[in-house]
Amino acid sequence: MTENVNDVVRFLRETELNEAELIDDPELNLMLDSYRLTYPLPYKCSRERCSTTLGYWALHSTGARIAPGPERRHRKGQIAGIYPAEPLYRPGRPERQETAIVGGVADLLFPELEFQHRFEESIEWAENGDGVITLDTNPTVGSGWPLRWRFTCPRCNSQYVHTNKEMLRLFFQTLYARRDEIRPGTIR
Ligand SMILES: [Zn+2]
Repeated sequence: MTENVNDVVRFLRETELNEAELIDDPELNLMLDSYRLTYPLPYKCSRERCSTTLGYWALHSTGARIAPGPERRHRKGQIAGIYPAEPLYRPGRPERQETAIVGGVADLLFPELEFQHRFEESIEWAENGDGVITLDTNPTVGSGWPLRWRFTCPRCNSQYVHTNKEMLRLFFQTLYARRDEIRPGTIR
């Protein structure tokens, strides 16, 4: 698995595709398919002694893009960054098929969102949520999807703007390093 994660990291580092082209690139999307159900990773403030969780990042089920959300579904025994998600099984009870869709973006939670079904939950949350996750200026220039997200720490007011490509890179560098949280300041 590590080798394949490294392939994605290398692709993202070396590609000359622009942000809009990257999302639909067939080769990259094929490489990402194995990781789409990865349990969402916490994204944390990089400021020393702050480390506030600013949201959770999931690899989207379609396209080469990261979807951020304010919370993630709690799953007992689940460890961030581990793929595939284990099927739920309760000891002492008959094994049963889990009906809810789990894994990847399906594990993001938007508990206070009044979902209008105009866009995806991540996007509507960025527009109408608590202001920690927002879309940066001209977020979708050249694409139908947001390409630039802004994260504002509610504790220390630090702001972080990431392109989708940077978010993909941070996500996979974190998987490669076998870490369970994304903190850009600590990732090389
Ligand atoms: Zn902070």
